[in-house]
Amino acid sequence: MSLVGGSPPLHRPMKVTIGYTQSCNLDCRVCYADCTRTPSARELPAATWTGLLDEFFEAGVISVMIEGGEPLHRPDVLEVIAHAAPRAMTRLRTNATLVDDAMAARLKSIGLGDAMVDLLGATAATHDGLTGVPGSQARSLAGIRALRRAGLPVTVLVIMNRENRRELQALLELAHAEGVEAVGVLRPYPLGRMRRDWATLSLSLEEMMTAIAALRPPQGLRLMQSWHPNDANCCWQMAAVNAYGRSIGCMYLREYVDYGDVTTTPFLETWEHPLYRRLRAGQVEASCAGCASTQHTHGGCRSTAYAFHGRWDAPDPFDAGLNDGTDLRVLPAREALPDAP
Ligand code: SF4
Ligand code: SF4
Repeated sequence: MSLVGGSPPLHRPMKVTIGYTQSCNLDCRVCYADCTRTPSARELPAATWTGLLDEFFEAGVISVMIEGGEPLHRPDVLEVIAHAAPRAMTRLRTNATLVDDAMAARLKSIGLGDAMVDLLGATAATHDGLTGVPGSQARSLAGIRALRRAGLPVTVLVIMNRENRRELQALLELAHAEGVEAVGVLRPYPLGRMRRDWATLSLSLEEMMTAIAALRPPQGLRLMQSWHPNDANCCWQMAAVNAYGRSIGCMYLREYVDYGDVTTTPFLETWEHPLYRRLRAGQVEASCAGCASTQHTHGGCRSTAYAFHGRWDAPDPFDAGLNDGTDLRVLPAREALPDAP
């Protein structure tokens, strides 16, 4: 099949995401990391991360996102944030349940740029039902307040699913009332525990589009969403390393690719892995014509294209213009996907 779009791959990454730990204090049904309560002994120590980050800064990285798991579940992440923050825009994705005033002040003082806090529902019943931990919404909201008091910008993220789709407007209003600047409504990815619960938590594309279209963000709140046309293919600039030091390009590719061990191989060697180069080049079977010319969407997200079609160059079925009848509630078995080259 002939491919469309694409551009010469970058020589160096601009952004890197660190999956600091695969552990967490919550048990979310939507967890892509399939977190355990205790970090594995194989997870990289902070000192290894600071060395790796220096390699990234030398390569030209200007933005570092630290996520997990729950990064603050491993307190040594503070050393890594303190190392990264003077050298790059440093962001933290967290459930905020471990953030009190002292922690928020510490994060601010070591230079954290902003925090992205996951909420899974506007009501405690929905949120706590999805996290599996009673009281977790109250603790996340307390964490958001502490972050705001410390002067840190906060974005709330919500992974849309069958349990919370009717609470999204209320969630926007809740976030606004808490002084949050932006809410990102995120599409679900069939990864980790979310994959195992896909049959009960997933929605059709139409259901998701209807829920998004109905949203009316309060004045002053920025609404972000990860469906077409807002979802540009970002593979071209991304780097990610998981908790064990594997180069995986993007955290949403965590179950599909492995470009090498960055503790034994220079990162820029893994950057030249043939599949990594191919995804960065962005040539795809089909791309929305309007957006390809203006936003370089390159066919949407490669993770969901692969998850549903088993082909790296396939159209992203979460993109209404490219869905072509794919029922997003019906997920091909993981074993049916061809191995990554
Ligand atoms: S808070 Fe995040 S990292 Fe923790 S279990 Fe939930 S989804 Fe996973
Ligand atoms: S896999 Fe999807 S989310 Fe990840 S970098 Fe590629 S397009 Fe972006």
